[in-house]
Amino acid sequence: MKTTTTNSLVHQDIQQFLASSRKMLIDGKWTESASGKTFQTVNPATGKVLGHVAEGAQEDIHRAVQAARQAFDTGPWRRLSPSDRGKCMWRLADLIESHTEQLAQLESLDNGKPVTVARVADVPLAADLFRYMAGWATKIEGHTIPLSVPYTPNTRYLAYTLREPVGVVGQIIPWNFPLLMAAWKLGPALATGCTIVLKPAEQTPLSALFLGELICEAGFPDGVVNIVPGYGETAGAALAAHPHVDKVAFTGSTEVGRHIVQAATGNLKKVSLELGGKSPNLVFNDANLEAGIPGVASAIFFNHGQCCCAGSRLYVEKGIFDQVVSGVAEEAKNIKVGPGMDPTTQMGPLVSDEQQRRVLGYLESGFTEGAEAVTGGHRVGESGYFVEPTVLVNTQPTMKVVQEEIFGPVVCAVPFTDVEEVLQQANDNIYGLAAAVWTEDINKAHRIAAELKSGSVWVNCYNIFDAALPFGGYKQSGWGREMGHDALELYTEVKAVCVKT
Ligand code: ADP
Repeated sequence: MKTTTTNSLVHQDIQQFLASSRKMLIDGKWTESASGKTFQTVNPATGKVLGHVAEGAQEDIHRAVQAARQAFDTGPWRRLSPSDRGKCMWRLADLIESHTEQLAQLESLDNGKPVTVARVADVPLAADLFRYMAGWATKIEGHTIPLSVPYTPNTRYLAYTLREPVGVVGQIIPWNFPLLMAAWKLGPALATGCTIVLKPAEQTPLSALFLGELICEAGFPDGVVNIVPGYGETAGAALAAHPHVDKVAFTGSTEVGRHIVQAATGNLKKVSLELGGKSPNLVFNDANLEAGIPGVASAIFFNHGQCCCAGSRLYVEKGIFDQVVSGVAEEAKNIKVGPGMDPTTQMGPLVSDEQQRRVLGYLESGFTEGAEAVTGGHRVGESGYFVEPTVLVNTQPTMKVVQEEIFGPVVCAVPFTDVEEVLQQANDNIYGLAAAVWTEDINKAHRIAAELKSGSVWVNCYNIFDAALPFGGYKQSGWGREMGHDALELYTEVKAVCVKT
């Protein structure tokens, strides 16, 4: 396994981008932090410093919120025609597309994911999201509503609703899909005419800052998008609590989601949350295993298991349990683990040493409680934050590895005998983000899809994302839906207008 990234592989633009400390974007200008502090971002494939970034904190957040406030209250953005807002977003999408290589490399260097994956998934999905949402800018409509007011029987009214932008939006995003999560957040906010302060995760601030350069180039008015990198407890907390922010949108852990909700109570800002998951993946005796085995393997191992919707609980009907487990283990063994910039790599390192320790800690706890690894179970190599793709068996429903989100390449395989039993186990979790069913019986698939308590259900597929398909969680997996038409509701207020005629 190669553990270093040769500089010659890195695009010249990215070498230049990394050569100097990156600033934050406030009111259309690239600025230092008020404290003058910077923080390091690390290449997880090597553990070595990749670059330096301005460290935003309370004062920087305040400046950014003021800029966004002014841009919303008095700036041109909200007054642009919806079509012109959409054109700006299309320009941004085109710029993302024409910088695919640069963005894919930054994502790989900062997050660890294979550059080959970022090129075909993260970057095109981000461009597509902006285009999809740009289309909505011209279609945000209210209704006309017939009234029958009982105490004014002889009066007629014209009543209608307007859908208006919610205002200044604080957006706090995680490190697992740094660019794509920025797109999921920015797209609907821009389409509806909001202004934004975006805080990327401290582990992976670089692609959002590169995106900031493209946002400036695309011609968005100053202050519409402000990007303040920094730590969660300082910059993130200040944004969630800021009294002049009208709405906060968060993607991350359920634990931090609770902090966000509490911080938002000061001015009762609107809150949307996309949180953790422990998604069940149900494989029935009648499934097509030729597609199903690689499918359930990629459900957990895609993005190194660092997906909130990772299929981390694999329930397999008894008759095919051994076949499926050995098939998934074989898939796991064949995954080429290495630095994301190596074009032959299929699985890169986890994002940080902290994440590596966390995943290894879960493995340790599983082994102590009696789980066994059919394959994997250890770190890989001495440098970088690599962990083997791992398949655990002999688990119990109450074990931490079965109940808690590991956010790493670890799947627990559990046999089941009937539909009622597997539904009970699948729904026995605090989370409800995603689930999947593998069967050739279409009636069974629909019946089970209806019974699973989760925001997404995939049938005979997994991790299928589209800008038009809403995504979000039941139970403690969150509030609201991102993407699709539903996302517009997160960023708009409804105004009822009643005119006596
Ligand atoms: P993970 O556990 O996967 O690192 P987190 O939920 O901790 O995910 O982080 C997701 C995002 O939330 C990051 O941008 C992080 O900086 C931010 N964050 C962490 N703690 C807080 C907090 N107390 N208030 C606001 N944002 C936070």
